[in-house]
Amino acid sequence: MDPALTPTLSQGERGQTPSPNRPIVIIGSGLAGYSVLREFRKRDQATPVTLICSDDGHFYSKPNLSNALVAGKSAEQLVSTPRAKMAADLKAEIVANTRVTAVDTTGKKVRWNGGETAYSKLILALGADPIPHGLAGPGADKVFAVNDLQDYAAFRSALKPGGRVAILGGGLIGSEFANDLAAAGYAVEVVHLGPWPLERLIPEPLGRALADALAEKHVVWHFGRAAKAIEPAGAGVALTLDDGSRVEADIVLSAIGLRSRTQLAAGAGLRVNRGIVVDKALQTSASDVYAVGDCAEVDGQVLPYVLPLMQQARALAATLAGERSELRYPPMPVVVKTPALPLAVLPPAPNAEGGWQVDCGDDGICALHLDDGKILQGFALAGQQAAQRAQYAAKVGRPA
Ligand SMILES: Cc1cc2nc3c(=O)[nH]c(=O)nc-3n(C[C@H](O)[C@H](O)[C@H](O)COP(=O)(O)OP(=O)(O)OC[C@H]3O[C@@H](n4cnc5c(N)ncnc54)[C@H](O)[C@@H]3O)c2cc1C
Repeated sequence: MDPALTPTLSQGERGQTPSPNRPIVIIGSGLAGYSVLREFRKRDQATPVTLICSDDGHFYSKPNLSNALVAGKSAEQLVSTPRAKMAADLKAEIVANTRVTAVDTTGKKVRWNGGETAYSKLILALGADPIPHGLAGPGADKVFAVNDLQDYAAFRSALKPGGRVAILGGGLIGSEFANDLAAAGYAVEVVHLGPWPLERLIPEPLGRALADALAEKHVVWHFGRAAKAIEPAGAGVALTLDDGSRVEADIVLSAIGLRSRTQLAAGAGLRVNRGIVVDKALQTSASDVYAVGDCAEVDGQVLPYVLPLMQQARALAATLAGERSELRYPPMPVVVKTPALPLAVLPPAPNAEGGWQVDCGDDGICALHLDDGKILQGFALAGQQAAQRAQYAAKVGRPA
């Protein structure tokens, strides 16, 4: 057995032995898994819960990963609550460093290398994996992706003070890292396939304003380009872009997107699509098996952000406590952590009618997505305007 996968147990109560009753089992110790546990404990203190995770189970807030460099934070400093305290506070058994390899929905059991446990109800809170960057060969070992604390520790230790970092992808995570790295004194170049940053979320004027604000921090943009090859160059690497141009850097950060972890569910015969398919009660295609967070596709949508998973966790906790509850999302703006130009975005539904109406003023940019009847469908706010997100969120579905 891989020593890294030796199960580490934290008991909710000292001297407590695992309950002979089947526990509720949660797989995953990210924001989704722990939010379900926390919300459930507000309703039910007695039912045994076992949380199993392939990482160390210490609690941290993942969004902090993309603004921690300028604050000089190490991975250890980003842990807000150690696993043992989580177990004690939430009265749960936490089985850490344990990768679940199979789910048996008939026998209601989960298995890992060397062990298994039965469940009464199972919650999959498995998160998402970085999309593979596809760069292979010498130099590829200098390409990092930051999706958890271990990744962050490895990336941070590979950074040399004042060094050069090439970022693949100028979406939300790529742009946040560009801002954080530039503010921390690194020379940053971003290779982005789209015509402006976050082009799937914000209209062009805001994208250009964000690109300009980061360019003022010396971020160099390569729009409409993809990296095709990597090779060693001096102590670092050179990327060859699809127009033949080259970008040299000490290390590369891949931020080209995430893909829901669906393999475990697919292996168990659950219905999967872009994520693990669940209904509005977060129920998968198997009875007593639920999915939440970045791994879940709710009503056809994967929303890999904190506010949706909090809503999911509340609804699911009510269902687990015996009060079947369906998810109803309120408007949930996403705050983009780019202090060079603060942004708050509520993207319209993918097939929303109408278009953007953009107003630029001294206090920032306000872009409203209106349908043909001038009903507000979504918004993107930049600069001081971003502080108005709650007011605009309250107007969604009403005349702007
Ligand atoms: C750098 C970065 C910045 C972000 N910033 C923002 C932001 O500003 N605002 C926002 O709303 N969202 C942001 N997000 C997105 C947000 O952080 C995620 O939506 C959220 O953290 C996902 O939580 P999760 O619990 O679903 O997944 P994860 O945190 O990935 O947790 C998955 C868990 O499942 C476990 N696991 C997976 N497979 C197995 C298995 N087979 N056996 C056992 N355990 C398993 C893992 O070990 C882990 O504990 C950001 C994301 C990143 C990467």
